[in-house]
Amino acid sequence: MPRPILATIHPAAVQHNLARARRAAPDAKAWAVVKANAYGHGIERVFEGLRSADGFALLDLDEAQRVRDLGWRGPILLLEGVFEARDLELCSRLDLWHAVHCDEQIDMLAAHKTNVPHRVFLKMNSGMNRLGFTAERFRSAWARLNALPQVDEISLMTHFSDADGPRGISHQMQVFNEVTRDLPGERSLSNSAATLRHMAADATAAQDALVSDWIRPGIVLYGSAPDYPEHTIADWGLQPGMTLSSKLIATQTLQSGDSVGYGSRFVAEQPMTIGIVACGYADGYPRVCPTGTPILVAGQRTRTLGRVSMDMLTVDLTPLVEAGHHVGFGSEVTLWGRASNGAVLGIDEVAQAAGTLGYELMCALAPRVPVQVQD
Ligand SMILES: *Cc1c(COP(=O)(O)O)cnc(C)c1O
Repeated sequence: MPRPILATIHPAAVQHNLARARRAAPDAKAWAVVKANAYGHGIERVFEGLRSADGFALLDLDEAQRVRDLGWRGPILLLEGVFEARDLELCSRLDLWHAVHCDEQIDMLAAHKTNVPHRVFLKMNSGMNRLGFTAERFRSAWARLNALPQVDEISLMTHFSDADGPRGISHQMQVFNEVTRDLPGERSLSNSAATLRHMAADATAAQDALVSDWIRPGIVLYGSAPDYPEHTIADWGLQPGMTLSSKLIATQTLQSGDSVGYGSRFVAEQPMTIGIVACGYADGYPRVCPTGTPILVAGQRTRTLGRVSMDMLTVDLTPLVEAGHHVGFGSEVTLWGRASNGAVLGIDEVAQAAGTLGYELMCALAPRVPVQVQD
């Protein structure tokens, strides 16, 4: 038997989550953001769940090729545009739409030989200060692009730094609206957090009201709340896109004073039953998760104990045994996602224990973990 660690991808949940994002912005078209191999889920594995998207947004040309290889003939957007001039040839060949965020990308377009003009998304730096033309330079970039025979339609995009938090989006909205007011073209502004928090019917009455012809949901598709812990996936009506599961491969009985694992970081204060799980940091489970990180055994919530090691971690079985659950060698363990009894442990809860985000955990699933797709 193989080592029992397993990641299960849930395309039906991803489909549900896309529909959920759309409900917040019913009139908008939706880019399904599948960069980083669909946030670690695998583009090919989630594709069926995302067929109802209006387009796919990503960064890597080879990922764009993979989406075309799946038979997708609709829009594909390169969120960072091209990295060098010859990328434009692939854009022409695969009919890729691409962001334009800097002068160098306009120079490359101006020198590009093509019969079919490109659809571009001109990016404004409205305050994030990563990619895009500043408010002062945006209109001259637009005029320059608009004069190029290589360019067809120009859409306008920007990205929010604080859509998930208290600062919100209004400072960036103000900059964007002021500069673009009389420019033609579709707008694309909203990531997951902006879509859920600032586009829903109850948010449109607010000052922050936001129009985005194309939303760009990423993290919500995969079942992580963009603003955890303010909201959980249950609050947003999202379902886990990935389950990381394993099994107990041993149990131990501890006496008061016995310690667990490397560095003896957990010491029992009373007699306990503990379980050893076949999952460690070499599987992508964060080593920094401390004692008390939530975990499911046989679909029941309990906690981890002591240090996570490379191939194993330890869980507290005492409350389960006391409650009469039969747990032991072979019992199902859910590191995050959905247990067989339907119980859900959101990836955000584990990420928070590790001091990070669901994004990082799903992207960091280790190559040695076998992956199956749930039908
Ligand atoms: C990654 C990305 C998104 C998606 O962000 P989420 O927070 O995952 O919804 C949207 N727009 C751009 C430009 C991105 O790079």
